[in-house]
Amino acid sequence: AAKSLGRNNYQIYEISAEQAQQQNMALKSGLRHAEHNGELRVFYQPQVDAASEDIVGMEALVRWEHPELGFIGPGFFIPLAEETGLIVSIGEWVLRTACKQAQEWERKFGLRLRLGVNLSAVQLMQPNLLDIVSSALQDSGLDPGLLEMEVTESISIKAAPNLVENLHGLHKLGCRIAIDDFGTGAASLDYLRKLPADRIKIDQSFVRNIGVDPDDEAIVRATIEMAHRLKRGVVAEGVEIEQHLHFLRANRCDELQGYLFCRPLPPPAFEKLLHERQRLLATADAAEE
Ligand code: C2E
Ligand code: MG
Ligand code: MG
Ligand code: MG
Repeated sequence: AAKSLGRNNYQIYEISAEQAQQQNMALKSGLRHAEHNGELRVFYQPQVDAASEDIVGMEALVRWEHPELGFIGPGFFIPLAEETGLIVSIGEWVLRTACKQAQEWERKFGLRLRLGVNLSAVQLMQPNLLDIVSSALQDSGLDPGLLEMEVTESISIKAAPNLVENLHGLHKLGCRIAIDDFGTGAASLDYLRKLPADRIKIDQSFVRNIGVDPDDEAIVRATIEMAHRLKRGVVAEGVEIEQHLHFLRANRCDELQGYLFCRPLPPPAFEKLLHERQRLLATADAAEE
């Protein structure tokens, strides 16, 4: 069977279970040194306002640039990092790196972009999570209101000690909370009820079926409506084609994220995008005068 390490990433074909296990072991030991060896990268994917399509935020997405295998996607190595407990230090590194980067772009472009950072269950259960986040905010100088923690609802509230306290604590620090992959876990509504969530991120599996499956379309519509009634924001993930955009816009989704607008980019390419945006705005201003 083909085992994919994620989109555009290294692929392994036709390997036995035993070989796969050996490979995982080798990767786990490599992962142990990845941070120290400077092999981790943070990419950034824009989030745009649904009406204007102007960039309003970004999500930080980690990648591992393996010295022999090339880029490995988080869908593959985050589970390994969670099993080994390495996620705690990798997660802290991502958070610190992304906060510094966001603050640098704010200073350079005068743009207050929101920064989404994914937190895994292991991190959310850490008793010192709040200290880590406050320290990352303090060291970077980033406004806490610009930091949005993405929490996936595959984590059971009951099985995760400290989770509810940590999320309330993050809220008190001034951070925002988003429920990631909304609709795919077993506890979407329970999450909405019990956690201080500011936003819902509609999972890409629903967005992908816009124009394909009327039931999924109904779920997307209802989710947007519900979010608004609860005075929460709503973002759609995995917006790939114009048809998705039109449907989501017509149904008043607030923000959009997906390949239609932009793939996750390494920092220099993201910065180029911000320069380009600034140049276009300046040209438009000059034309108006
Ligand atoms: P996620 O948080 O739901 O992130 C969105 C994923 O969808 C990203 O995959 C992104 O590249 C991909 N994506 C964006 N637009 C489109 C689109 O239009 N079509 C399709 N098909 N995909 C799109 P990525 O970067 O491979 O990350 C996968 C998952 O790994 C993330 O899902 C998140 O759960 C996890 N992850 C990524 N970075 C981190 C991190 O720093 N910490 C933790 N704990 N998890 C992370
Ligand atoms: Mg996310
Ligand atoms: Mg998601
Ligand atoms: Mg996720």
